[in-house]
Amino acid sequence: MNEMKQYQDLVINLHYTDICNYRCRFCHSRFGKTPLGLAEWKRIVANIVKDVDVRRFNLAGGEPLAAPFAQELIDHIHGLEIPVSVITNGSLLTPSWIDANRNKLSMIGISVDATDHADNVRLGRINGAGLSLTKERLVELARSIHAAGIRLKINTVVNRVNCHRDFHELVESVRPDRWKLLRMIRIEGTNDHADDLLVSDAEFEAFASRHADCRPVVENTEDIVNAYVVVNPMGRLLDNTGGRYRETPSLLDHSFGEVFPEVAFDRRAYERRY
Ligand code: SF4
Repeated sequence: MNEMKQYQDLVINLHYTDICNYRCRFCHSRFGKTPLGLAEWKRIVANIVKDVDVRRFNLAGGEPLAAPFAQELIDHIHGLEIPVSVITNGSLLTPSWIDANRNKLSMIGISVDATDHADNVRLGRINGAGLSLTKERLVELARSIHAAGIRLKINTVVNRVNCHRDFHELVESVRPDRWKLLRMIRIEGTNDHADDLLVSDAEFEAFASRHADCRPVVENTEDIVNAYVVVNPMGRLLDNTGGRYRETPSLLDHSFGEVFPEVAFDRRAYERRY
């Protein structure tokens, strides 16, 4: 029988890089770097699985596929027989990469916040060459993900630029297993320069109800505060209390059980989300 671990059934979000090839104005990453390497992330994973029955590791960023060891980390977690998923802006995904990971990834989430290139430009969702993820490319990637038998999630952050747009055609073309609507959240010290992109309660609710027939999963701000287990690029657990991030000592040097009691984790809000 498996030894009972201290914490049961947690999805752990590993934000192992702050690097991203896009510059979304509402982003919470600081576009720094990938401070730790593969060996360190393996140690962090070991320090987590010691104490946690991990339901899934979710790889996030920044742009997780921009880190040089992304594939090795996926392979490592897959080798531990723990499900792994990735949340990406989609720009570095290719059909062949998706196919090569068909038995390793349980889900690919793609963030899609605009229906056309002009809105992507307004949001900063473009790379250094001024390119965004086109709808045609997104549909091609979605087909590959479906063909590989991997679940597809689309995350959309509702903001001032997209709140009056119609996403029906895009969602119908991509056919995600789950379309999640989030509301732009302001975090002091990260995206507090982008207040002009915030939406009101009424605008967020109007966007969600206009798209109700697409059956989105709607997550309002109060649904997600402290409902995630987040590890930042330094290997520290984060919580979001009073609109500001707080962090624990690093999981490089501490077990999960030592530092987790320091974060404000709302188990009930977590259960509602997953
Ligand atoms: S794609 Fe994601 S990580 Fe990159 S800039 Fe946009 S919000 Fe930030």
